[in-house]
Amino acid sequence: MSQAVPVRAGDRVFTARRALTKRLQDAGIENADLDARYLLSAVLVNGDRAQWLDPERCLEEKEATQLQSLCARREAREPLSQILGSWGFWTLDLTVTKDVLTPRPETERLIELALQNVNNGSAKILDLGTGSGAIILALLSERKEAHGMAVDRSAKALDIARTNAAALGLDTRVRFIEGDWDAALAHAPFDLVAANPPYIPHAEIAGLDPEVRSFEPMLALDGGADGLDAYRTLLPLMPAYLKPGGFFAFEIGGDQGLALMALAQNTESLKEISLFLDLTGRDRVLCGRRD
Ligand code: GLN
Repeated sequence: MSQAVPVRAGDRVFTARRALTKRLQDAGIENADLDARYLLSAVLVNGDRAQWLDPERCLEEKEATQLQSLCARREAREPLSQILGSWGFWTLDLTVTKDVLTPRPETERLIELALQNVNNGSAKILDLGTGSGAIILALLSERKEAHGMAVDRSAKALDIARTNAAALGLDTRVRFIEGDWDAALAHAPFDLVAANPPYIPHAEIAGLDPEVRSFEPMLALDGGADGLDAYRTLLPLMPAYLKPGGFFAFEIGGDQGLALMALAQNTESLKEISLFLDLTGRDRVLCGRRD
């Protein structure tokens, strides 16, 4: 193994960027240069972008120490989102910790579909398994008269979701409930129910990237033997959760479309079942309506 190149006080920004990139490459990280730039900007952008943009600037002692420590975390394959403590989703910046799934760009497909299918007025929206709150907060940010509820089994995740709601000024329009998939039934009916449940088949977890397998919450990933456990509970709950004609949108795994179409079509009182792909052409969102 090659000796890790240290980042030292006095190094120029471009030298540090090269050293960080090399170290992250050696740690098996795909977009090492991009990650190096994220780490540099986390440390160097202190309200003064011009300084960060100057590749000739020399690192101060404190900056070099911080970079060393952030780089070591990334080399250990901690996700960038958790190192930075926040991550972009839709138009929002969300606080992210190891207690919530990092919001993924694929989930923005669900947001688009949900927005197309909920009216502009005072819709009542439910997000099941909310994690960071990404889905409910993105929807409420786009629908100013809507209000909603979000459920999660993890109290720690709900703390993050509440923090995010407050930071975005959306906390007056959302209530958070700790519990299972059926925890909001007493508050039904809703116009829209969205969920990004755990859907990775149990046996595939060990083969995931270390960033996911070692750092993201299993509760948000493990979908049981075939990955479909959550949907077997969620789909039959939709008639009770939704108003007549109400819309549901669930994120699904890239090859789960056919199985889930069949499952949804065989669920009493659901209609207009449809499947949508993400930008990479894989199955991504299952939608439908209550009769
Ligand atoms: N999209 C996530 C992944 O592939 C999984 C999210 C989930 O199970 N809901 O890592």
